[in-house]
Amino acid sequence: MAENCGKCKKSISKEGIVICNSDDCMKKFHRTCVNIDDAIYDAIQKNPLISFNCEECKNQSPKALAAKLQTMEEKLNKVYNGVNQISTRMYQQYFQFGNANNVDPKKQTNNLIVVGNNCNSDRLQVVCDYGRWVQVGKFATSTSEDDIIEHLAEELKINKNLVKCTKLVKNDANLSQLSYCKFKISIPDYRFNELFNENIWPSGVMVSPFTPRSQLNQNRI
Ligand SMILES: [Zn+2]
Ligand SMILES: [Zn+2]
Repeated sequence: MAENCGKCKKSISKEGIVICNSDDCMKKFHRTCVNIDDAIYDAIQKNPLISFNCEECKNQSPKALAAKLQTMEEKLNKVYNGVNQISTRMYQQYFQFGNANNVDPKKQTNNLIVVGNNCNSDRLQVVCDYGRWVQVGKFATSTSEDDIIEHLAEELKINKNLVKCTKLVKNDANLSQLSYCKFKISIPDYRFNELFNENIWPSGVMVSPFTPRSQLNQNRI
């Protein structure tokens, strides 16, 4: 089969043929049967980046692409579900660890703990623990605390009310002369580590654990 032309079905020799570049196909054709002129034939021979695809494969490619996309989507869903399960378990362990002294260990093993993550509702006021802070910069001086809060709410899918942010300014700073500013930021403890995810910050922004210094005064501006 492979030694006959995919178009006219007649036998082919080694010269003057083109091979379909599609991995599943590899059919051979007389170049004259598939309208490959001298110039294109020459280019295909000389340049490995130029390849020939038969009509059948060209027409199938959107379908093939769709099938590949479908497979990728299924794989992604599996990964997504796995990550969800892991993070749920981490939250559970965090809370069980946090309450370890108060709870009977036998009862504790049956305790399913779920942490709410609906960021659309403002009706209920929630109290969370905030143990740690990060320092983030450098931003243009025009950047406001609300800008940072809005950005994080969107990137982390977290309620704006749960993001704490303070612009850091030195006591004696002349605001008009500053070339940049930094912010002190915290989110509830159980999600704190997400602040160190580089993907939520614009390129070049630096995030480090916040260490209070005497010469820094956290003024609201
Ligand atoms: Zn042919
Ligand atoms: Zn083909």
